[in-house]
Amino acid sequence: MEKGILIVLSGPSGVGKGTVCSALRQRIKDLTYSISATTRAPRPGEKDGVNYFFKTKEQFQSMIEQDELLEWAEYVGNYYGTPAGFVRDTLDSGKDIILEIEVQGALKVRDKFPEGVFIFLIPPSLNELQTRIQNRGTETEETIRNRMSVAKEELGMMMKYDYVVVNDEIDLACSRIESILTAEHCKRERV
Ligand code: 5GP
Repeated sequence: MEKGILIVLSGPSGVGKGTVCSALRQRIKDLTYSISATTRAPRPGEKDGVNYFFKTKEQFQSMIEQDELLEWAEYVGNYYGTPAGFVRDTLDSGKDIILEIEVQGALKVRDKFPEGVFIFLIPPSLNELQTRIQNRGTETEETIRNRMSVAKEELGMMMKYDYVVVNDEIDLACSRIESILTAEHCKRERV
């Protein structure tokens, strides 16, 4: 049986990964979502096993030791990780799965699943920033330097991804990702 496609949706903090991911799940019914484990406390309305598997630091540590995580990262004082078994089982059953994770974790998944589809979500303001940097002269030297350094950091990470999607409007961003998925399926199609 043809294996499913592993999709990693990542990007800078605050870009709207979670919102785009939820919208995608609504639009693509047969897309499986990987539920992460985390040590952060649930937010109001979040449920264990739905939004995250909420763990204590000790439980998370034991998952690391038992090699149960595909990747994990520390983010703002909490741990986040992708349970490996579920991802592998889903792919083996021929279904696509999406991971919505931060950048460091995404790069670790890249090492284990080079055949995965890695999508980097960016805010539209980064494009504007790039144009402004390219046009030069409109900002003070210090501002240009600061902006360039941030842009370089982000651009450096973008280069490691297969696709960059601008999150200007949720519907548009979802349509772009759906097109990517369609193309990736066509790429793998064999008679
Ligand atoms: P939040 O606390 O806002 O739910 O998530 C914080 C950050 O952790 C987000 O950028 C989210 O994408 C990322 N994240 C969620 N689950 C995982 C995971 O399993 N692994 C990694 N590396 N990052 C994750």
